[in-house]
Amino acid sequence: CGTRAARLGTEVRLVMESALTARDRVGVQDFVLLENYNSEAAFIENLRRRFRENLIYTYIGSVLVSVNPYKELEIYSKQQMERYRGVSFYEISPHIYALSDNTYRAMRTERKDQCILISGESGAGKTEASKKILLYYAVTCPTNDHMAILGDRLLQSNPVLEAFGNAKTLRNDNSSRFGKYMDVQFDFRGTPVGGHILNYLLEKSRVVHQNHGERNFHIFYQLLDGGDDDLLITLDLERNPQNYRYLVKGNCPRVSSISDKNNWKVVMKALPVIGFTEEEVQKLLNIIASVLHLGNTQFGEGEEGETYITTETQTSNLAKLLGVDGSALREALTHKKLTAKGEEMISPLNYEQAVSARDALAKAVYGRTFTWLVEKINQSLALKVTEFPLSWLLDIYGFEVLQQNSFEQFCINYCNEKLQQLFIELTLRSEQEEYETEGITWETVQYFDNKIICDLIEEKHKGIISILDEECLRPGETCDVSFLEKLEDTVGSHPHFITHKLANGKTRRVVSREEFRLLHYAGEVNYNVMCQSDNQILSHCFRREEVIDQKRPEMAATQFKNSLMKLMEILMSKEPSYVRCIKPNDAKQPGRFDEVLVRHQVKYLGLMENLRVRRAGFAYRRHFEAFLQRYKPLCPETWPNWHGRLVDGVSTLVNHLGYKAEEYKLGRSKIFIRFPKTLFTTEDALEAK
Ligand code: ADP
Ligand code: MG
Repeated sequence: CGTRAARLGTEVRLVMESALTARDRVGVQDFVLLENYNSEAAFIENLRRRFRENLIYTYIGSVLVSVNPYKELEIYSKQQMERYRGVSFYEISPHIYALSDNTYRAMRTERKDQCILISGESGAGKTEASKKILLYYAVTCPTNDHMAILGDRLLQSNPVLEAFGNAKTLRNDNSSRFGKYMDVQFDFRGTPVGGHILNYLLEKSRVVHQNHGERNFHIFYQLLDGGDDDLLITLDLERNPQNYRYLVKGNCPRVSSISDKNNWKVVMKALPVIGFTEEEVQKLLNIIASVLHLGNTQFGEGEEGETYITTETQTSNLAKLLGVDGSALREALTHKKLTAKGEEMISPLNYEQAVSARDALAKAVYGRTFTWLVEKINQSLALKVTEFPLSWLLDIYGFEVLQQNSFEQFCINYCNEKLQQLFIELTLRSEQEEYETEGITWETVQYFDNKIICDLIEEKHKGIISILDEECLRPGETCDVSFLEKLEDTVGSHPHFITHKLANGKTRRVVSREEFRLLHYAGEVNYNVMCQSDNQILSHCFRREEVIDQKRPEMAATQFKNSLMKLMEILMSKEPSYVRCIKPNDAKQPGRFDEVLVRHQVKYLGLMENLRVRRAGFAYRRHFEAFLQRYKPLCPETWPNWHGRLVDGVSTLVNHLGYKAEEYKLGRSKIFIRFPKTLFTTEDALEAK
């Protein structure tokens, strides 16, 4: 009894989440402690148990797995933040704050750049996770008045980015439709002193088209719902979103979980905080309004097949709002410019071409506005340049399989394929390094290497992207078909590539004649063949260099590949931490755990692979000091205090406990335990004392 009291006094913080003995009810807080680490069923059962108890976080070693609770949990308060400050990972229940705190401390003590990679499918909780990390830094890092401004700006930039870059989809009412990496810079005192956001691949097609049950970007509805009467009059807008063609496609003007009116207020308050002048705000709103007017611009067809605009007022408003010349705009919408043999020619567009020119213009205007917005935010965050470590937060959308998968999904899934590759590579590397520093022999691990799929996509001259580029550069309208043929010629024999012709009835699911199928590590996806040629039309309105930033016009796919390569380089140079988000059900409801859905995500997040690597040799490892501190009451020689070398103390302790030689190893600073059972027996002994 005496020892127990003493233990409670000194080691309250060491309680491994309501003691491991409660593991039947709440599962294990670290998957490495699962008896059968190869069993997917055991993995999922552990997730389910914890989810039922509102324990949404679980580790795989240093990786944090998070399951979206779809309800507010009382675990994010300031007091909770305090609990996690300076506490080591395993001493307290898993939490996003623990990960934030450990990353922060590693950055300060090891002086190494950190990055936090957040992945998971749409609606799994990535953006919420990144917000919680930022909040943790804003609240707990040392600060001064000057820096408080930065913290404020960092937090305020979120609602603005979400208004312009997020939308309601079938899977998430607040789905980020762009990739984002954000870095926070700290000075030598650990004070955040600057930030930077990189955005990529905004889903611009959403501006002109939404699937049933989905919406356009939030900002349009916010403006119409929240903007006051005077503002709407200035912008020539009516309040009802149903009046705008770009807003009616999804037939879903309102979302019960979203208050557009309140969010509008938040955004309008945030804009000045992140450095927007009144004039700039006006400019921003003009552009948003002009996109709506553009959507309502209609065309008629003349007797000779020429196209003219039937909505004249709309067009004059538009020219006014965009600050461009009316006749130039009219011409841009109904004519195209061709360059043949060095000479420029203007020729009229037919009806379909005019419609697509209009949509292309809307997408480009919106896309460029978004980029401008991010630039502005960056200016406001760039308070000071420092040479001290950076901490990166990467929040990108996860693997996507839609009914129709086009170029956008191809890029997203390729990106996820690369991140998976990096994830496995880095997990393996850090495991190997740990074994090496601890002087323990490394045992080889079997795992699925998705390099083969990455190569299929990105290899020079013979990867899908190279072929796509070549085809898009060729003149003519039939490039889609020839693209598919070229693919069949070049990569037809690749085991992860299938087309209608190659499948030859061998697959269960159909591949149509206009598609090819990739067998990603996460599953099969059919892609439409996809050459895009928006740019030509756009050059009418923007200078060519504005549309394509390079001298040599690179194709979109190669551009994306290059920015991905850059990202991978950045990530490789940093110490990564991972948050893997899981969505428990498609209904966005609390308390529902859809096993099929979860199993699929566990698979494509590569979590079993991750666990296997992590468990290759030893299930569990602990610093000598922490291990001794926790279990010393179990051995008279180590209790109440051990005065010799730590390693000898641990050795004495485990000998007393009867650990067999094959059950554990002592490294330079840590004890490695091979099977969870050994640890559980020790835990139970502690509990019984
Ligand atoms: P993602 O960015 O992965 O697409 P979000 O982070 O936007 O997903 O999460 C979708 C929704 O799920 C949020 O709007 C919120 O309602 C809910 N959610 C996500 N994470 C949490 C959490 N930790 N606690 C409570 N609700 C959450
Ligand atoms: Mg998101």
